[in-house]
Amino acid sequence: MTGTTLDDYTDRYARRVRGMTASEIRALFAVASRPEVVSLAGGAPYIAALPLDAVGEMLGRLGSELGSTTLQYGIGQGSLELRERICEVMALSGIDASCGASPDDVVVTVGGQQALDLVARLFLDPGDVVLAEGPTYVGALGVFQAAQAQVVHVPMDDDGLIPEALEVAIAEQARAGRRVKFLYTIPTYQNPAGVTLSDERRERVLDICERAGLLVVEDDPYGQLGFEGDAPAPLRARRRDGVFYLSTFSKTFAPGLRVGWILAPHAVRDKLVIASEAQILCPSAFAQAAVSTYLSTMPWREQLKVYREIYRERRDALLGALHDQMPEGTTWTRPTGGLFVWASLPDGLDAKAMVPRSIAARVAYVPGTGFYADGTGTGNMRLNFSFPTPERIREGVRRLARVMEQELAMRQVFGAVTPTGSRRGGPDVPGPDLA
Ligand code: PMP
Repeated sequence: MTGTTLDDYTDRYARRVRGMTASEIRALFAVASRPEVVSLAGGAPYIAALPLDAVGEMLGRLGSELGSTTLQYGIGQGSLELRERICEVMALSGIDASCGASPDDVVVTVGGQQALDLVARLFLDPGDVVLAEGPTYVGALGVFQAAQAQVVHVPMDDDGLIPEALEVAIAEQARAGRRVKFLYTIPTYQNPAGVTLSDERRERVLDICERAGLLVVEDDPYGQLGFEGDAPAPLRARRRDGVFYLSTFSKTFAPGLRVGWILAPHAVRDKLVIASEAQILCPSAFAQAAVSTYLSTMPWREQLKVYREIYRERRDALLGALHDQMPEGTTWTRPTGGLFVWASLPDGLDAKAMVPRSIAARVAYVPGTGFYADGTGTGNMRLNFSFPTPERIREGVRRLARVMEQELAMRQVFGAVTPTGSRRGGPDVPGPDLA
């Protein structure tokens, strides 16, 4: 062979690969998982709260007693038994037979992530626009980017997505002649912002999408992890047409099993199954049996309460520590459920630029830019409270506050310095971390 060598792949990549870069979260994981670092960066549930001995026994029996089916291929849509259990789980949130939910329209997926990918495969052509909250789930951004779609963010406030801003975004896209395929939304205990779309806004958002002919992709991994009573009913409980409901057992049971689902409008259920079979043939029969046996033989509603109680205590620890420690000018959301708080830093502080210093101070978070497709979010960070203990959370916030105080002090002397060295104000001297 002459000419190009086979270690040079760059000019062979498909077009959709060009924009693929490691997410900020992935880059952080390597350092954040060192034991000396207090990680407020992840999104992991507190698996130690599960009755692991009982779960382990159940998993063993699934292999030894039922291995001839649990270790065999299954069907593309997912097992009927699990789809029936999933309908019981959804009924807790008000998505039941009265709004047309049926096991027939459930497609079992490999986590919520495959559910997102399937919806993107079904609906997105290169250049299509997806409307999504700003900020939004980093894994959804990866999926939409791989589909070569463009994400246009719609701002939120403490009551979630702002309906007027949604209307403006739809009108702007129409004026620009761009095709918006769907609204992607995480209305309940949002990742990363921690806010929840109010009851009244849910109706307005649905009306606006209906009028504009937009599908709604409702991603709801956290809806059953509320600390202060029930969340407003999901969008899917209010409309049976035009809404795709996505969820997962990753946060309510165990992410290691990788079991999620889509409740799809009946007309597209077959297409979803065909697309899923092309990707994975069928979801893991073993993992599905694990989830359906867990749901039929173990006290999963009690376990939800356990998770909620632990997370509420940890959220309180985080909010208390932020209140006590954060420098003036810092603000943050007050989630009533879920796993995350979204913080806005004092003017001029750059969360991404601060990462190396924070890691050196043994605390990790995810800078806000990871949750936007358009580079905004430099003044924000996502803080997780589900995994670290309350003591670790308090220690982490103490460390973080010290880093921020130092940054603010240096900024007064040198001006703000970004990692690339471009300055925003201040005297014309090299910043301390570039010197
Ligand atoms: N959607 C959202 C909003 C999430 O936060 C996550 C996980 N962090 C997922 C989907 C994917 O979940 P899974 O682990 O089930 O793939």
